[in-house]
Amino acid sequence: MEKLYIGTNWKMHKSIKEGREYTQKLKEMARNKNERMQLFIIPPYTSLSILREEMDSSILLGAQNMHWEDEGPFTGEISPSMLKEIGIDLVELGHSERRQYYNENNVDLNKKVHAALDKEIIPLLCIGEKLEDKELGVSEESLSVQLKICLNNISTTQIKNVLIAYEPVWAIGAGGTEASTNYVHKMHDHIRKVLLEIFGDNGYDIPILFGGSVNRGNAIEYLTGQNVNGLFIGRSAWDLEKFEPILNDIEQFLQQK
Ligand code: PEP
Repeated sequence: MEKLYIGTNWKMHKSIKEGREYTQKLKEMARNKNERMQLFIIPPYTSLSILREEMDSSILLGAQNMHWEDEGPFTGEISPSMLKEIGIDLVELGHSERRQYYNENNVDLNKKVHAALDKEIIPLLCIGEKLEDKELGVSEESLSVQLKICLNNISTTQIKNVLIAYEPVWAIGAGGTEASTNYVHKMHDHIRKVLLEIFGDNGYDIPILFGGSVNRGNAIEYLTGQNVNGLFIGRSAWDLEKFEPILNDIEQFLQQK
């Protein structure tokens, strides 16, 4: 696959001021980057409009969630057309924190994937097995179920606009355990296999990103996997002093490829 997608979800972090400072610096850092590296950032809703005005198209701008309906009595929700109105490029769907704390399920996520595609917003669908799945030896089954339900009835044409983020729940966040490179590569190969099963050869075109305790020590190793097409980074990307060396390493990696 040509491109590597490298991006970060800020979760519930950064004020508008902090977000603007971060984005200005990232834009400068991105100026001379390899064209095969596609950067994206996913700030909280409050920063989206202003960042959209200040950013060009070289870095994709994403939202952390959305409803599947366009309008209605859904207090506290944001709709696909609202995101479209402010020029959002992508939307993160099904992060494990949304599944865990807000009861998001695969059936509703399927509606959200359809709604995003209908509005030409790129869905970044997050999937991942829980620790108990891994311990019981059913990680692959868990990933298959999530993919098959979340991508139900998506056409082979539409699927080319979907990004998948594989994020093992046990590897994410402050309490997370770093996954071994072999494990990550094995799960990515499995995800590719399921995508090919569902979408035929079009399944080769779907980028699969890895997320979960990615840092400078493991980023390039993860990227050596044949089916690892990018990195979705939390803590190691929120501070540009930490993120910049990772981006430089990826730049070198791309030059050697
Ligand atoms: C995440 O929460 O999706 C994530 C990838 O976070 P971290 O990199 O901090 O583990």
